[in-house]
Amino acid sequence: MSIRYVSTRGEAPPHRFSEILLGGLAPDGGLYLPEAYPRVTRAELDQWRLLPYPQLALRVLAKFIDDIPAADLEALLERTYTAAVYGHARAGERAADITPLRWLEPGLGILELSNGPTLAFKDMAMQLLGNLFEYALGKTGSELNILGATSGDTGSSAEYAMRGKKGIRVFMLSPQRKMSRFQTAQMFSLQDPNIFNIAVRGVFDDCQDIVKAVSNDLGFKRRHRIGTVNSINWARVAAQVVYFFKGYFEATASSDEEVSFAVPSGNFGNICAGHIARMMGLPIRQLILATNENDVLDEFFRTGIYRPRATAQTWHTSSPSMDISKASNFERFVFDLVGRDAATVRGLWATVEAGGAFDLSATPHFARIAGYGFVSGRSTHADRIATIRRVWSQYGVMIDTHTADGLKVGLERRDPAVPLVCLETALPVKFEETIREALYREPERPPDLIGIEDLPQRFEVMDASPEAVKAYIAART
Ligand SMILES: *Cc1c(COP(=O)(O)O)cnc(C)c1O
Repeated sequence: MSIRYVSTRGEAPPHRFSEILLGGLAPDGGLYLPEAYPRVTRAELDQWRLLPYPQLALRVLAKFIDDIPAADLEALLERTYTAAVYGHARAGERAADITPLRWLEPGLGILELSNGPTLAFKDMAMQLLGNLFEYALGKTGSELNILGATSGDTGSSAEYAMRGKKGIRVFMLSPQRKMSRFQTAQMFSLQDPNIFNIAVRGVFDDCQDIVKAVSNDLGFKRRHRIGTVNSINWARVAAQVVYFFKGYFEATASSDEEVSFAVPSGNFGNICAGHIARMMGLPIRQLILATNENDVLDEFFRTGIYRPRATAQTWHTSSPSMDISKASNFERFVFDLVGRDAATVRGLWATVEAGGAFDLSATPHFARIAGYGFVSGRSTHADRIATIRRVWSQYGVMIDTHTADGLKVGLERRDPAVPLVCLETALPVKFEETIREALYREPERPPDLIGIEDLPQRFEVMDASPEAVKAYIAART
């Protein structure tokens, strides 16, 4: 029996892994999930406990991928999860662990997911995506032109994953002079000929609108083989499942024990992977979802009401990668919550897509939510500052603003009977301004990134016009 993927809206034909790898939404507008979640046995957990990261990844991902030969997948994983790629581990941690667990005190740890090239957890999945895409395109001899919009983390992570990859070009739009100097330098200093940075005279929403307009021109999209790498891509979610296993093994001595995870959340991709790990049978007690002031997800888990916000009601906060108004991966969890009834999901998202909200509070589905391990909370700028200060003074560890949101909510909502592992989603150097405000000092900067702002930059400035962007792409593909 092969592994098949179905859409949360139930009106798209099932597909194999490689058939959905390069795509985004299913043709019916839904998101892909495996037809049934694979299970891990107690014996597997015992065997996997001491495996190095790429080998663990092979065991976990083989449960989701059965149309890439195991030897090829293994080679891809061994090339992806190396100490050289994830070389930003802190002093005293082993880079070869890929995601080292740092104990702050007994029973309270931070899982370092941000030691990759762009210092944010998105590298964990995106680096694998780069290698998987290159492999899949090589098999068919085809090309892919990735078009994206970024306000920071996703764009740089995509560029560092795709740089130098055969058959792939990246066209990344960002709002001119709206990113931090560090983020701008990270992206614009790339000199690889397959990476195209486009600084748009406008704001992030203009960039996103251009991507939508170009993608809606189906003729152009097909002619120029336009694709995306957004957070709904199934392979990204699958890659993220692996580090929940890794974190669990690092935090426990035996597979009889349970662990809770605290997850700083925006588009629900990271914690969706935790949900899937738990559905597979990994002994996770709680999945603690943390939001910042943009608390659309906290509101749902507290009240059963999902009420996406308008852009104008989305606040710019000091944990900007969690500034979202609707959570693109949330539909995957709701599909499970409503008993995988695609008709129900279609109805709920018809309301959402018309600008509305839905309320599950009175349904038997929401009554079962505790059974999924989810609890939630929110954090504010003042909470972030206080948490960064306390962790620095109490443990001598500097954390970033997103991780601070996770830790704050995690400590509030944790079950004290089991260890709590907080996912570190970025390194503090990416958010220098807030670190200065909290600690009156500069964040530690990895040696290879010192002076990055002074490197020559390669980018194109353009008006906020889909036609200009199309012409630019057409001339290069
Ligand atoms: C993307 C991101 C998040 C949110 O993750 P989701 O998968 O969107 O929930 C949190 N922190 C940082 C630093 C990020 O870049």
